[in-house]
Amino acid sequence: MRIKLKFEENEKKFIDRVNELSGENVYSCYQCGNCSSGCPFVFEMDILPNQIIRLVQMGREEELIGSKALFLCASCFTCQSRCPKGINIANVAEAVRHLIEPKGKDYFGPQEIPAELADELPQQALVAVYRKFSK
Ligand code: SF4
Ligand code: SF4
Repeated sequence: MRIKLKFEENEKKFIDRVNELSGENVYSCYQCGNCSSGCPFVFEMDILPNQIIRLVQMGREEELIGSKALFLCASCFTCQSRCPKGINIANVAEAVRHLIEPKGKDYFGPQEIPAELADELPQQALVAVYRKFSK
């Protein structure tokens, strides 16, 4: 793989926005893989947690659109506890979701909740689901 020394403007903007929204510094990741080896949901992910960080580091927003790993992250913080740089990948995943959702698709909508369940579901859970899975 060629090492990229200069980012395009849109790539740099994407990286900066992810850092800003997440409060993390993705540049500090050195791809040790500790996060991915401890993630309890990695067996279902299409890209690994360390690869999410790598794609952000390279400004490759397009490759993150449609990734189900971003939506499978359960914010369990196992990765952060194992990361030698203290990077919180859940925060990074949330920031990326926020940035790509207008370009992606809705994964969930109110119409999908059966009427008989709508009154019984915890409102907090519903808000969390809408926040994560819809634009
Ligand atoms: S554990 Fe931290 S430094 Fe290592 S690959 Fe994951 S995010 Fe990067
Ligand atoms: S916070 Fe997300 S990426 Fe990190 S270990 Fe948990 S599920 Fe995996």
